[in-house]
Amino acid sequence: MKVKMILPALAEAESPFWRPIKYSLFPPLGLATLAAHLAPDDEVDLQDQHVETLQLDDYPDLVVIQVYITNAYRAYAIADHYRLRGAYVILGGLHVTSMPDEAAQHADSIFLGPGDQSFPTFLSDFRQGVPKRRYSSPVRTLDNIPPVRRDLIKRDRYLVPNSIVVTRGCPHHCDFCYKDAFFEGGRTFYTQLVDQALQEIERLPGRHLYFLDDHLLGNAGFARALFDGMQGMNRVFQGAATIDSILRGNLIEKAADAGLRSVFIGFETFSPANLKQSNKKQNLAKDYTSAVERLHSLGIMINGSFVFGLDEDDNDVFKRTVDWGVEHGITTATYHILTPYPGTNLYKTMVAENRIVTHDWNLYDTRHVVYRTTRLTADQLKHGYDWAYKEFYSWTNIIASGMTHASNKHKLKHLLYAGGWKKFEPVWNFIIKTKQLNTMLPVLESILSKIKTEIQPNLANDKGRFARLSVGSPTTVADSAPVFHD
Ligand code: SF4
Repeated sequence: MKVKMILPALAEAESPFWRPIKYSLFPPLGLATLAAHLAPDDEVDLQDQHVETLQLDDYPDLVVIQVYITNAYRAYAIADHYRLRGAYVILGGLHVTSMPDEAAQHADSIFLGPGDQSFPTFLSDFRQGVPKRRYSSPVRTLDNIPPVRRDLIKRDRYLVPNSIVVTRGCPHHCDFCYKDAFFEGGRTFYTQLVDQALQEIERLPGRHLYFLDDHLLGNAGFARALFDGMQGMNRVFQGAATIDSILRGNLIEKAADAGLRSVFIGFETFSPANLKQSNKKQNLAKDYTSAVERLHSLGIMINGSFVFGLDEDDNDVFKRTVDWGVEHGITTATYHILTPYPGTNLYKTMVAENRIVTHDWNLYDTRHVVYRTTRLTADQLKHGYDWAYKEFYSWTNIIASGMTHASNKHKLKHLLYAGGWKKFEPVWNFIIKTKQLNTMLPVLESILSKIKTEIQPNLANDKGRFARLSVGSPTTVADSAPVFHD
């Protein structure tokens, strides 16, 4: 059987905000994971439109397309194209799960929720000639899933080919997050067997890993065993975690010992009222200055995620947020305009309050205002969001933020990481064009090398100013797209 698997490019690919490097970070791991269920003699072609021009003139038997909200229209057009050519087309992913009736118009079968169990069921039905229109599975487990088909990934097109996922979902229930909608009808957080996760790590060449899990520390027992197993592997890795998991116990020290060098954290908002509005209970009344200090004392860099436009936000939120990030030595920041993704509780609330102003999914990219705001006007929100990015990534602030660290090595790493990420676009573009991205991996590995630092006195003295202002979790808005950084 000829199988084509496609990740269509997000709508942003045609916008002036398009940064090729941002979309050349991670390979389409979800599709490569599903591909592992195909038969050895199936011919599989996996294409990612973010890093290659799609070849659409073939005649596969089966087409599998992963749909996010901002690639939905593109995905539907590709699906229609292949159905006209006689292929059997299946659609799955976050947006399909949120808008199944919309997606079903463009597919022979659709998949709701995770596909680890439903995709092999479909394949069996398909081979017997009795596929169903919809698939979902209340059974949720990662035990004994076959190894990811990494042979299908064009490693030289990605900065971080060694991305890996060892859990599904998250233990929390934030209102603006896709998680509950995507995992409805079954378990919403579960992990791989530790031994199998370690085997997957062993398969990856080089030193660097990027865990794309929503919350790598979400199951403390699993994470502890994983980090114990990684001792001596000489890895450096990046991942995501929540503030409360960083403050609790000694798991973060174990992670650092195993090689954790940077962590994605959803700070989201400084307002307790905003956190309550978002059902981000796990972060209420947490001292996140302590969390930042603890991470920095372990030499772990921080990528902070922040959301603008929650109902308590007013026009000073932008400056306060940028200033906080700079003063606290946050290495990279990802800002989002609040976006009510369909299927989420936030969306349901906004529909009930008649606040949704557009259903043009291309605008649901966290860069546009798609709902009626409260204390800010839509223009203020958009302008403030744009300003925050520009300001945080000014050289002045990159340097000021880097200088907050105690050790010279940490300062240098901060400058290289933040400056390298945001300030050398033409260089990245050249490297991508010449398909040399994987030659940058050793550079990334050395930037992520270990540093020993002490608790930073300048931050320790700052306790109180932002103490008890709560923070969020890593994936939130960002995990709605196949990228983290901005
Ligand atoms: S936003 Fe983060 S912490 Fe909250 S439910 Fe989603 S993945 Fe979990």
